[in-house]
Amino acid sequence: MKLESSVQYLSGVGPKMVEKLKRLGIETVRDLLFYYPRRYDDFSNPQKINNLRIGQEVIIKAKILNIKQSRTRRKWMSIVEVELVDDSGKIKAIWFNQPYLIKILQPGDEWLFAGKINWDFKNKEKTLTVTQYEKEPMILPVYSETEGITSKYLRKLIKPILPTDTSQVSVRLIEEYLPVEILEQENLTGLNEAISKIHFPGNSIDIEIAKRRLSFDELFLIALKMLLNKKELSKSPAIALTFNEKILKKFVGNLPFKLTNGQRKTAWEIIQDLGKNRPMNRLLEGDVGSGKTVVAAMAVMVTAYNKFQSVWLAPTEILANQHYENVSKLLTPYKIKVGLMTAANKKANLEKDDLIIGTHALLQKDVEISNLALIIVDEQHRFGVKQRAHLRRPSNSTCQVGANRLKVVPHLLSMTATPIPRTLALSLYGDLDLSIINEMPQGRKVVITKVVAPENRQKAYDFIKDQIEKRHQVFVICPLIESKDSLKINLFDADRKSVVQEYEKLSKSIFPQFKIGLLHGKMKAKEKEAVMKKFHAGKLDILVSTAVVEVGIDIQNATVMMIESAERFGLAQLHQFRGRVGRGKHQSYCFLFSESWSPITKKRLQAMVECQDGFKLAEIDLGLRGPGELVGIRQSGLPDLKMASLSDTMLISKTRQAAEKVIKNSLENYPALIKKLEEFETERHPE
Ligand code: ADP
Ligand code: MG
Repeated sequence: MKLESSVQYLSGVGPKMVEKLKRLGIETVRDLLFYYPRRYDDFSNPQKINNLRIGQEVIIKAKILNIKQSRTRRKWMSIVEVELVDDSGKIKAIWFNQPYLIKILQPGDEWLFAGKINWDFKNKEKTLTVTQYEKEPMILPVYSETEGITSKYLRKLIKPILPTDTSQVSVRLIEEYLPVEILEQENLTGLNEAISKIHFPGNSIDIEIAKRRLSFDELFLIALKMLLNKKELSKSPAIALTFNEKILKKFVGNLPFKLTNGQRKTAWEIIQDLGKNRPMNRLLEGDVGSGKTVVAAMAVMVTAYNKFQSVWLAPTEILANQHYENVSKLLTPYKIKVGLMTAANKKANLEKDDLIIGTHALLQKDVEISNLALIIVDEQHRFGVKQRAHLRRPSNSTCQVGANRLKVVPHLLSMTATPIPRTLALSLYGDLDLSIINEMPQGRKVVITKVVAPENRQKAYDFIKDQIEKRHQVFVICPLIESKDSLKINLFDADRKSVVQEYEKLSKSIFPQFKIGLLHGKMKAKEKEAVMKKFHAGKLDILVSTAVVEVGIDIQNATVMMIESAERFGLAQLHQFRGRVGRGKHQSYCFLFSESWSPITKKRLQAMVECQDGFKLAEIDLGLRGPGELVGIRQSGLPDLKMASLSDTMLISKTRQAAEKVIKNSLENYPALIKKLEEFETERHPE
C-alpha cells in the first residue's frame, strides 16, 4: 500500500464507499491521512446532565435506567429510546435505525455519550441525539461527514494506515519536506508524527503539537508559492500602456454618477501600473455594489487607446452576459469594440474586438488573442489555481528587452467582493498588489437584517409570502446539500439545514403555491445556469441554494435573503449573501436563522445586524474566532486552510520569514519541498 494508492484497496471500502469518499475529496491513502478532524470528542471530561442546554454538543457519563424500542408512524423507522441518569439529573437519549443497540446498551451499565441536545416539542423535554458512545474515556476525532460516511467509519479507515503505526509496515512514511533548519528553529514536530497525532491524540497537548506543525505547513506553503510567483513575474516583460488624460476625463464626466473617492484612487493605482513595462498583478477589492465594474472599464479604455486588446473573465454565463450589457454601454460610445464569448454565445471577433468578455470558454487552448495586454478576472476566487496560471502565459506580442525580443506577459487585474482585511491580504496574497474601494456610492438603501428566533419562523414565512405576493423574489441559503439523516422530527429540529430538504419542505408544505428552484454545487454547470436564468427572469419566486449562488448577480427584484444555519458561515460570506438583495429600488431584508445559541454565535449574528461594512465584519470574525479553535476558517476567496487560523498573524509572519529564507538559500537545495509545492498546486479545491 502506497500513499498514492486508491482508497479502494483498503479493507472496508467497496465501490459505493469509494464514490462517497470522493465527495469529501478523498481518493488516495494520502488524501485520507490529510483529511483532518473537524474537532474532538473528549470523553475524559464529561458534563453534568442538569447543566446541558439546547443546541449544545455535549459529552456525559451516565447510567442506563431503561431502554425501549418503538417505530415512527411515518416511514416506520426504528427508534431506540434510553433513559440516562447521572448524579445531577436524567435525560432521554434517542437513536434512529439502530435496533441492535437493544443488545449492546444494558440497563445498569455506565457509558460515555457524545451528542447534541435537542428540544422535543411533543413531550416538552430535552433529549440527547447520540453520535458516539464509549466505555473508556478517550479523545476521539470527529470529521466533517457526508451522507453514508461517519466519523466512526473514517476512524476505522485511518487508524491502521497511520504513518507511525509500526505494525503496518506496508504503509510508506510521508516524506518530510520542511528543511531541517526550519524544523529546528521553529521547534516543529515531524510530519509523520503530526499526522498521527492529529487523528489520534493521546492528550490535548498532542493536539496542540500536531496542529502547530500542520498550520505552519499550510501558511508556509502559501507564502512560499506567493514569493516564487512574485519573483518570477518581476522578471517578465510587459507592454507599457500610456493613458490619455483627456479621454479619461471625458469618460468620467459622462458617467451618470460621480465616482467615489475610492473608485478614483483605485483607478489611478491601476492606470499607473499599466504604464510600467512589468506585468501588473493587482487585486481590486471592493464590497458588493461598490462599483468595481466602472474602474475596470477604465483600464480597458487605456488598453484600447494603446491599440491592445483586453479580456474580461466572468465565472458564469449569466455574469458574462450581464457584464457584456453593462460594459458595452459604458465603452461603445468611445469606439471601443466589445465582444462576447461564452459556451452558448460566440459573437466575439478575437482579432478585431478591443475587449472580449467571456467565461471559461475563453480559457480553451485554441483561443488566441494576439494583441492581448490586459486580463480582468471578476470574482477571481471562482477560478481555479490552474486556470489562473493559464491566464498568465505569455501572449503573442513581443517587446524588445536589451538585445532580445521577448514574449510579453499581460497585465492582470483580479477583482473580488470578498472583504479581506489589508494585513491579511498582504500576507496571504503576497504576490498581489492591493487596491481597495473602501466606500459605497451614496444613497444606497441599507438591507434590514434580523436574527430570527426559532419561535418566530412562521412570522418570517408570512412575511416572505407577503413579499412574493408583491411580485418580489426570495433567496433561501443552507450550508449543506443533503443531510446525513433524512428523518426529521419536526420543522424545528436541531440539525444543520440542507438545501434538498429545505427545498422539499418549502415546496410541499410551506409554499406549495409558489414556484421554487433548487441550486447546489453537485448540479451540472448547465443545470445551475438554467436555474439561475429562470430566477433571473422572474420565473421562480424562491431560490433555495447552497453557498454557490452567484456573487455579483444582479436580481433587482429580490428583496429577501433568508439564511438557515447562519452560524455555519463566515461573516464575510453572510455579508456577501446579503449583498444579493437590495440591489433594486425596493427595501430589502436579510433573515438569519440559527440552531446554535452559543455566546459567540450570538455576537457574530448581532454583528451582522449592526454592521453593513464587509471589511469590518471580516475583522470582527477574525477577532471572535480565535486561533484556539480547530475548525479552519473557510472564507470564500482564500486558499483552502484546513488547519491554520487566519487570525494567527504571528504564525503568518513567521511562515513568511521562513519562506523568504528558503528562497534566499535557493529552492533547488530542497528537492522534497519542490515536490510538495507541485502537489500543492494541483490540490483539489472542493466547493
Ligand atoms: P460591484 O463592485 O459589486 O461589481 P458594480 O460595478 O456592479 O458593483 O456596481 C453596482 C451598481 O452601482 C451599478 O449599477 C453601477 O452602475 C453603480 N455605480 C457604480 N459606481 C457608482 C457611483 N460612484 N455612484 C453611484 N452608482 C454607482
Ligand atoms: Mg461585480
